[in-house]
Amino acid sequence: MTRARILVTGGAGFIGSAVCRHLVRETQAEVVNLDKLTYAGNLASLREIENSPRYRFIRADICDRETLDAVFAQVRPDGVMHLAAESHVDRSIDAARDFIDTNIVGTFTLLEAARAYLAKADAATRDAFRFLHVSTDEVYGSLGAEGLFSETTRYDPSSPYSASKAASDHLAIAWQRTYGLPVVLSNCSNNYGPYHFPEKLIPLMILNALGGKPLPVYGAGANVRDWLFVEDHARALWLILNEGQAGEKYNVGGRNERTNLEVVHAICAILDRLVPAGAPHAQLIRHVADRPGHDLRYAINASKLETELGWRARETFDSGLERTVRWYLDNDWWWQPLRENVYAGTRLGLTGGA
Ligand code: NAD
Repeated sequence: MTRARILVTGGAGFIGSAVCRHLVRETQAEVVNLDKLTYAGNLASLREIENSPRYRFIRADICDRETLDAVFAQVRPDGVMHLAAESHVDRSIDAARDFIDTNIVGTFTLLEAARAYLAKADAATRDAFRFLHVSTDEVYGSLGAEGLFSETTRYDPSSPYSASKAASDHLAIAWQRTYGLPVVLSNCSNNYGPYHFPEKLIPLMILNALGGKPLPVYGAGANVRDWLFVEDHARALWLILNEGQAGEKYNVGGRNERTNLEVVHAICAILDRLVPAGAPHAQLIRHVADRPGHDLRYAINASKLETELGWRARETFDSGLERTVRWYLDNDWWWQPLRENVYAGTRLGLTGGA
């Protein structure tokens, strides 16, 4: 069944804003976006829907139980799409505290608020209600050269970020099993696309190359990620919320495995064609010391989502990357103001931790 009143957490972030735009453009749902607006939250990403009568923004912290209770009572959602998180691996290595607070304590607080809300809700709302907990494939740890992550792969997180997301996944599943909260879980591979914060691998490389700056690649650049265009992820999340079974988890991925070095070369090749410089952009590539605890390879088997719910990625990596590069070329109004502070207090932000 299709849900009608959706509370999106983290809707000012990269994926959350794609979800809000998708819901307003492609569905009839009313969308309430609850976001704290950390450095990663940006209301400019919602400009094209901000005047829609079906969209509303509330600035709030998912750790603030009192506010969450008031929001649930006022919005009366039949679906929650929980994306609010601290999401950058390198930042989690430098300072993990916010990751524990938001990803673990915040998820706990939101689950409790949802449970209290449902306890008081009418039978129709209780029947319809779904809580989609949005997570990452990084909870599974690193693969060797072979194999794919499935929904039954053992959790084995390596970074403070992925450990905090793994903890939040366990909480969400426990709230389903223990309290009967109708939770659905999704674990997705690395996303890319428009409105991606410039500290992540793909936008960082596009913008550095455009500025003639070095393109720093961790180690040999051999780490493999499985890339998914963000709008394909947004469609998958809406499908999982509406058609997924409570208590089930679904892996989401684009079957687009690339080494980091391949990704950087692909960006350079597109830029060589669209904005030719004197010399090939790839000459800006510099290999730098590797990230500690750097997982070698992530790759997703999304066949459960494909066969049970009929989802398919629409973009190939080539088409999605071309769209992404063109978007950054056309939308400096969005990224220019963010560029100044990108490196403040962070490691380099090279592998696009989910
Ligand atoms: P993001 O960092 O771009 O956005 C996170 C958003 O959450 C921001 O708008 C921020 O302001 C908000 N936020 C942070 N702390 C908050 C709090 N305490 N209360 C309310 N809002 C808060 O992240 P993203 O890349 O869009 O990722 C969204 C979700 O998807 C995360 O849960 C992440 O773990 C998951 N995920 C991301 C990827 C990826 O490749 N980016 C892949 C798989 C899963």
